[in-house]
Amino acid sequence: MMKNLSKHGADFIDDAKINDLVKNMKEDKGRVRAIIAKSMEKKPLAVEETAVLLSAESPDLVEEIFNAARQLKKDVYGNRIVIFAPLYIGNYCVNECAYCAFRRSLRTTVRKTLNQDELIAQVEALEDSGHKRLILVFGEHPDYTPDFIAETVRTVYTVKRGHGEIRRVNINAAPMDHEGYRKVKDSGIGTYQIFQETYHHETYAKVHPAHTHKGDYLWRLDGLSRAFESGCDDMGIGALFGLYNWKFEVLGLVTHSHHLQKTYGVGPHTISFPRVRPAHGVELDRKYFVSDHDFKRLVAILRLSVPYTGMILTARETAEIRREVMAFGVSQIDAGTRIELAGYTKKAEGQELNKEQFQIGDVRPMDEILRELMQNGYVPSFCTSCYRSGRTGQIFMEYAIPGFIEKFCTPNALLTLEEYLLDYSSPETRKVGEKLVAEELQKIKEGPQKQKLLERLNNIRNAGDRDLYF
Ligand code: SAM
Ligand code: SF4
Repeated sequence: MMKNLSKHGADFIDDAKINDLVKNMKEDKGRVRAIIAKSMEKKPLAVEETAVLLSAESPDLVEEIFNAARQLKKDVYGNRIVIFAPLYIGNYCVNECAYCAFRRSLRTTVRKTLNQDELIAQVEALEDSGHKRLILVFGEHPDYTPDFIAETVRTVYTVKRGHGEIRRVNINAAPMDHEGYRKVKDSGIGTYQIFQETYHHETYAKVHPAHTHKGDYLWRLDGLSRAFESGCDDMGIGALFGLYNWKFEVLGLVTHSHHLQKTYGVGPHTISFPRVRPAHGVELDRKYFVSDHDFKRLVAILRLSVPYTGMILTARETAEIRREVMAFGVSQIDAGTRIELAGYTKKAEGQELNKEQFQIGDVRPMDEILRELMQNGYVPSFCTSCYRSGRTGQIFMEYAIPGFIEKFCTPNALLTLEEYLLDYSSPETRKVGEKLVAEELQKIKEGPQKQKLLERLNNIRNAGDRDLYF
């Protein structure tokens, strides 16, 4: 089959250049501090400048990077954290990714694709716990065509129970051709997410055999470019950390981000940085596994390098790590996560690894995660307003517009949190939440905007209104 790349389809990852930056950059305190200062002005960093931050090894300098990332996160995102859940639709797969329990040759993995009734039951269970934003996850298989994916997305949007509804459906699925992307875009997806896994060609070839679909590095690297050309202007990139040198992968992500920005005028909406987790039937060389300390460094450096890109930290990580790393610039986390097929309707009784892609680290229920977030001063947000108001892609200059957070993000976070507290939270969590909402309202300056927000909150509380947003 003839595969058509994007108009600008070319391999823009130069291994030798990136390796040279990683290996030959020596720590220079003056330069590191100058780059930190530049990033504090919320200016995106060049690949070379990011490499300067990666060269910082002295504990005091690394601490300065952590502090800068904490500050930048506060300045750009405030204290909101967007909440979502992954929903696995099917784990049949034709690929042979060495790190994944869904790879084709693994006969002991239990395979399943949700049927229509099961899909609806999962979405209802997610709605019953308060979720409004999902990411649907698919293996790569001839059954999971763009039509099938689009149909699944449409079904999810139709499921409503009580006040429950899913207002934004994102997808993580194998790369498609232009026509495929147009079909899934038409079904109303939010973000289309795809991870390059490793940007290092040789490692990529090692973990994705050449005879498999995923073995085609360039087809995958070019996937988001084709998606953009087909109308998907909201894209998520990512690398699976632990396959190759973590510093190389950071520079790969930043290069990819610049490529999209330069070529299409729109950078990625989100960056994901999963670390390889133990998985059924998976034995990996641990040589490149990333320590907790280096993980914190990579999150902080990505924050400084791409100040306006959302950063996703998933339940692969433990509660302790999530607690700590969140402050360095994370803007989205999943909560109440189950990755077993049809897992949301099962009693929580631990993972069955032969049915799941990998082991997760944070298995706490949604209510508990939200309570802890609020106790730590974060405002959990279920906001889906930008996407539904057409503020995406090039016109989605979230955070770049002065006053954007005050005008949209904070009020919408409070409105959606209030819905959650009234409809889904435990009494204990509601108490913590109502106190937080009151404190956040105190911080907002008096004026017509605040008045409107108070009216809407009142309508949610007393008139039963829902889905009010700015
Ligand atoms: N089949 C699609 C694909 O490969 O693009 C969907 C991907 S998969 C269901 C979502 C992501 O999980 C993968 O892109 C990979 O980065 C990650 N993943 C796979 N195995 C993992 C493991 N053992 N630990 C952590 N993350 C893993
Ligand atoms: Fe299949 Fe994706 Fe797992 Fe690779 S990572 S085996 S493509 S599900």
